[in-house]
Amino acid sequence: MKAAVIEAPGKVTVTTVPDPTPGPREVVVDVAACGLCGTDLHILQGEFAPTLPVVPGHEFAGEVVGLGSEVTELAIGDRVAVDPSLYCNECRYCRLGRNNLCDRWQAIGVTVAGGAAEYAVAPVANCVRLPDHVDVQDAALIEPLSCAVRGYDVLNSRLGSHVLIYGSGTMGLMMLELAKRTGAASVDVVDVNPERLATAEKLGCSQAALSAEELGRPAGWDVVVDATGNAAAIQDGLERVAKAGTFLQFGVSDYATTAAISPYRIYNQEITITGSMAVLHSYERAAELFATGVLDPQVFISHRLPLTEYPQALEQFAAGQGRKIVVLP
Ligand SMILES: [Zn+2]
Ligand SMILES: [Zn+2]
Repeated sequence: MKAAVIEAPGKVTVTTVPDPTPGPREVVVDVAACGLCGTDLHILQGEFAPTLPVVPGHEFAGEVVGLGSEVTELAIGDRVAVDPSLYCNECRYCRLGRNNLCDRWQAIGVTVAGGAAEYAVAPVANCVRLPDHVDVQDAALIEPLSCAVRGYDVLNSRLGSHVLIYGSGTMGLMMLELAKRTGAASVDVVDVNPERLATAEKLGCSQAALSAEELGRPAGWDVVVDATGNAAAIQDGLERVAKAGTFLQFGVSDYATTAAISPYRIYNQEITITGSMAVLHSYERAAELFATGVLDPQVFISHRLPLTEYPQALEQFAAGQGRKIVVLP
């Protein structure tokens, strides 16, 4: 089959690899669409994936075309979205229910072969069957949405909160959509890219601006979400948290990024600084939310490209063009 392969840091190609065979409790998915995201860039830079080569792609959906010998829950022809998370279910964090912090954390498309290929293998437990009205290509958005749902689980946010989001790429916009639906009093969005801000406005943010300074809220925001991973945005965001507020690190920074905090302010104003990593018991709920139309796929998916253009698609994503780019294997 045809697959994108990250062979070494900085080197990605589209090539032919052996067709996958399912284990007893696995299925083979004929991938309809696979999204690209910052994680793929990190893998290309030699982070996250301990062993290369790897077929990337952790945001995908498709049709079941092969069944392992012990699979009874799914049938050939079922349309499924795939939770990429692979947990050991044995370590301390798995036993605490914090599986996304698993000591032996793995993920389809990160540490094992993923969906940027004609076919991908997934455990039956990771597959969520799609309702008939959900377009299988659009369902590639469920994985990033499940990360946003996990972000909201961490926030435990209260009705009537004022929310500030840094970044109006796919993840920032998903956080915006969820904030609107979880009873925020206001949701403001900051981005240095005016074109992206226009989408945030289209989706109904309260205010959009190139910097938080322009938004005129000297008391700060109850919830500040970084969806950029960018050092300058994070530093600015940490300083915009209102008393008793929460800062959520949702964007993925480079390993070396640091930011300064004021321990006195954290103490004196009871500020919470927290983070949200990938998916935790949130995939199923994201699929259910997605089926209710929580996201408009026509807005969120800006480019649909053939798998053969995977390297160019990654370059385009790295250059900050568009929103979610998906490849169609
Ligand atoms: Zn992703
Ligand atoms: Zn574990």
